[in-house]
Amino acid sequence: MKENLPKNLPKNLPNNLPQHLPQHAEVIIIGAGPAGAAMASWLADHGVCSIVLEKETFPRFSIGESLLPEALNCLEEVGLLDVVEAANYQYKDGATFVTNESRYDVDFADSYSSGKKYAYQVPRADFDHRLINRCAEKGVEVFYQTKIKRIEPLNNGYQLWVDSNGEEKTIVAGFLVDASGFGRVLARLFKLDKPSLMSKKKALFCHVETDLAHPELDRNKILIAQTRADIAQWYWLIPFTGGTCSAGVVMDDCHNDGQPVGQKGSLQQTHEKEWHLAMEKQRMMSDLVNGKPLIREIGSVSAYSCSVSKLYGERYVILGNAGEFIDPIFSSGVTIALKSALLAAPLVLEAVTQRQTPDWENRFHLPLMQGVDTFKEFVMAWYAGILPRLFYADMKSAQLNSAEGRRMISAILAGYVWDRSNPFTRMSVGNLQSLLAWV
Ligand code: FAD
Repeated sequence: MKENLPKNLPKNLPNNLPQHLPQHAEVIIIGAGPAGAAMASWLADHGVCSIVLEKETFPRFSIGESLLPEALNCLEEVGLLDVVEAANYQYKDGATFVTNESRYDVDFADSYSSGKKYAYQVPRADFDHRLINRCAEKGVEVFYQTKIKRIEPLNNGYQLWVDSNGEEKTIVAGFLVDASGFGRVLARLFKLDKPSLMSKKKALFCHVETDLAHPELDRNKILIAQTRADIAQWYWLIPFTGGTCSAGVVMDDCHNDGQPVGQKGSLQQTHEKEWHLAMEKQRMMSDLVNGKPLIREIGSVSAYSCSVSKLYGERYVILGNAGEFIDPIFSSGVTIALKSALLAAPLVLEAVTQRQTPDWENRFHLPLMQGVDTFKEFVMAWYAGILPRLFYADMKSAQLNSAEGRRMISAILAGYVWDRSNPFTRMSVGNLQSLLAWV
């Protein structure tokens, strides 16, 4: 099996990676994913050169490849859109929801909210590498193979113990930004973990070589497939440029074929068996994915929904997945990660330059959670079967099928969950359910 590593990395990669970890930094960012890069870039553009500590070496694989238009707006505001636009990623203008019988197309062009009407589908190894390299060009020092092990508070910051290329080192931070994703460094070390309200799910995923010229596939859209609207198991197909795509299936965590892992063959063989069993049930996935060459091993992730009791505190803030991750169904993860960085960055700047405590609650936590909570209600309405029924219903007489209703739904699915002029941003699962009475 070959690894799906990027073929066209930016030409002007910095070859002057920093060698020696300094003893002190005004701002330390843990994690070089989208949230960390967005924070580092914004701060660099405003005169603060942070240090990024990343446990892996880039490029590295990551799940989360379908972006939303709102993510592009955020990238623009943090000064990172140019490297994304230059990358020749697969253009994305919406989403197609299908069952074995029905179809619902969402076009971002119709979106009720103003802002960009398109996004991209990005192999994350390449995307994340481009973002963080752009930060390095702006003067940000990025230390790879550097993993945070322990953190202790000081009077004016924190002391960090890190494993840097196999050596234990310490560094003092004036301000700490946790963008460690599922590493959840501060949630673990500061005991901020809070159980998520979402039910436990498991995803299997892979990159696949396939002919994307299927008559029912619009390659400019992410495909979200089900067998039937009332079955919660769902699939994704994310076309990339060229002849490859990301494919995956999400199922209940307890769902398995009755074969305990490791009893018959390896974990990979178990995944392959589950993969084929799942893919052959869905008509389009069966055509496009089942039996097609896999260009990396099938990966799996489970119980990924997570939350924290606090997103900020004395001289620290938690961004993106390091704080809260809801669910992959509406591709909201990278958008929320970028938005959290964008909202927090000016407050980090104030904290380190003006030595005052910003109003984190009203300027970061509450505004961020408005959008996150909208996504949460939509996710819960999806798994309760409400949204699939709304999407696939014969909506000739439905309020939802009014041009305005469709535009509002399209805006939510484009990531415009912070646009409070859209009534759908204020809808609970109950409100969404009541719309069913109209169909
Ligand atoms: P990450 O991208 O995870 O970056 C965190 C970085 O921190 C990593 O590079 C990691 O190596 C580093 N790190 C971790 N621990 C440490 C440590 N101790 N010390 C130093 N560094 C550390 N989102 C979308 O927008 N679109 C999608 O289509 C989508 N699909 C998804 C499908 C599934 C099945 C799942 C589970 C998620 C999906 N997501 C999707 C969500 C997306 O993957 C995340 O929301 C997004 O990557 C979060 O970005 P981040 O910057 O917060 O964290």
